[in-house]
Amino acid sequence: MKRCSATHCRAPVAKGQLFCGAHWAQVPERTRRAIHGAWRARDTQAYAEAFDAARNAIDLADGTFEDVMAPPPSRWIVPQHLGAAR
Ligand SMILES: [Zn+2]
Repeated sequence: MKRCSATHCRAPVAKGQLFCGAHWAQVPERTRRAIHGAWRARDTQAYAEAFDAARNAIDLADGTFEDVMAPPPSRWIVPQHLGAAR
C-alpha cells in the first residue's frame, strides 16, 4: 500500500496519488497545477521541484518543519516555463 508523502503522515493513498486528501488540500493551487503540468510534460526535474514545494507547503501547514532546513522562499516559486518543451 502506498502512503501519503507528507513527512509525518501514514495515511494510505490510491495508486498514482502523492498525498492523502487532507494533505493534498493543503497544497497551493499553483503547486498542484505545477505537479500535473510537469507530469504531463514528463519533466522529471520540474516534477521533483514541484513535489518538494508541495511537501514543504504541507510541512509548514502541519508545523512539522523543525528538523528540515527550509529553502529560501524564492525556491518555492514554480518556474513559469513548466510544461513547456525543453
Ligand atoms: Zn497525508
